Amino acid sequence: MQYPEPIAQLIDSYMKLPGIGQKTATRLAFFTIDMQGDDVTRFAKSLISAKQDLRFCSICGNITEEDPCDICRDKTRDQSQVLVVEQAKDIMIMENMREYHGLYHVLNGVLSPIEGKGPEDLNIASLLKRLQQNDAIKEVIVATNATPEGEATAMYLSRLIKPSGIKVTRLAHGLSVGSDIEYADEMTLFKAVEGRTEM
Ligand SMILES: [Zn+2]
Repeated sequence: MQYPEPIAQLIDSYMKLPGIGQKTATRLAFFTIDMQGDDVTRFAKSLISAKQDLRFCSICGNITEEDPCDICRDKTRDQSQVLVVEQAKDIMIMENMREYHGLYHVLNGVLSPIEGKGPEDLNIASLLKRLQQNDAIKEVIVATNATPEGEATAMYLSRLIKPSGIKVTRLAHGLSVGSDIEYADEMTLFKAVEGRTEM
């Protein structure tokens, strides 16, 4: 027996999300059918709005409603430090820590030969251009995750940036090996920033 087309399509859509297989997608689809009409409308609108109303900051690559983003526009922030993260969501995690007051740059991934991701697929050219055009920047803190890909990306960036005389540092390994910034508690993250080492 086949599901009616609208349910089949909904299951299909849920399956496009990471970590969602057929079984979970089916459960979510039936859950959605049972939801209040208002809630479903709000859910659908928020999906469309997230895609339509957000853009990438032309300076740092953060996700924003306005370009440049709030952080890049904020002149009270320390203009001498740029903290490089893998994903825009990592900025939120660093900001919640409230101990870092510099600027950011979002790579939008890491170098990964397996996934066919090379330097040209990441926001590396924009970072180099930014460093070239802005001599207020004195330090680049590489905060990629402590995974093999994150480490390789950090090394790659260090080799590119160091000849320009800008200091390149890496978060200290308060972060356990293989861990994502996402799962670090605020104290661990704070210590990792405090104890960062020069590359
Ligand atoms: Zn920005």
